[in-house]
Amino acid sequence: MLPVGTRGGLQVGLKTYPAALPLGPREVVLTFDDGPSPGTTPQVLDALACEGAKATFFLIGRNAEAHPALVRRIRENGHTLACHTWSHPWTMRNLSGAAQIREVEHGFAAIAAAIGAPDARPGQGGVAPFLRYPGFADTPAANAWAAERDIGVFGCDLWASDWVHMTPDFQLARMMDRLRHAGRGVILFHDTQAQTAAMLPAFLRALKAEGYALVHLQPGSGRTETVAAPAGWTSETERIIAGIRLHRGV
Ligand SMILES: [Zn+2]
Repeated sequence: MLPVGTRGGLQVGLKTYPAALPLGPREVVLTFDDGPSPGTTPQVLDALACEGAKATFFLIGRNAEAHPALVRRIRENGHTLACHTWSHPWTMRNLSGAAQIREVEHGFAAIAAAIGAPDARPGQGGVAPFLRYPGFADTPAANAWAAERDIGVFGCDLWASDWVHMTPDFQLARMMDRLRHAGRGVILFHDTQAQTAAMLPAFLRALKAEGYALVHLQPGSGRTETVAAPAGWTSETERIIAGIRLHRGV
């Protein structure tokens, strides 16, 4: 377990920020975005329970509102609840500052309401003060709002690209290749993807077989000391966001 203190705000995840959580060699954090989804999240939860694995779920607020029993199950299974905005706008950067903040505020509130704590602020009532933006596209207004409320912004260190269609076997091999290369890190999955739910049992077994340890993120006190990115670091997600904007002409 790694308590993550977010006082005054925090930005971590090497795909987006030049800072990582203080993980040791072969330490891995599992995160799942975009749920909960009745079609796939239960299978993900079953796989995690089977191996005693704990993860962080960055939920979309309106999905949490639609499927509160699943939100409660995630919590009862001992995982960490976190926010991935209310409606998962394609990019926060096309919204006004006020609309960006509504997305984040409403997202946290919907998750809190799903677990019976509608008035709880982020970090209270069972929802961690952890935020991940859709497509990792942060904005100055939302970042400032989050920092003022002691909410940490989470990117990730590696991913399987599970938004691209591939077989579970291919996804497993790609994920393990990337993990062997990185050696540690916060991994992004989507519990809404059937291929991810299907590969998860084998992935968890592979982690064990190769000596990786799962680290469960939980809210902590103060502000966690991060580890600076290696020299020459650049944001991979900014390049992706810029490319999509160019492609879509927005
Ligand atoms: Zn997402």
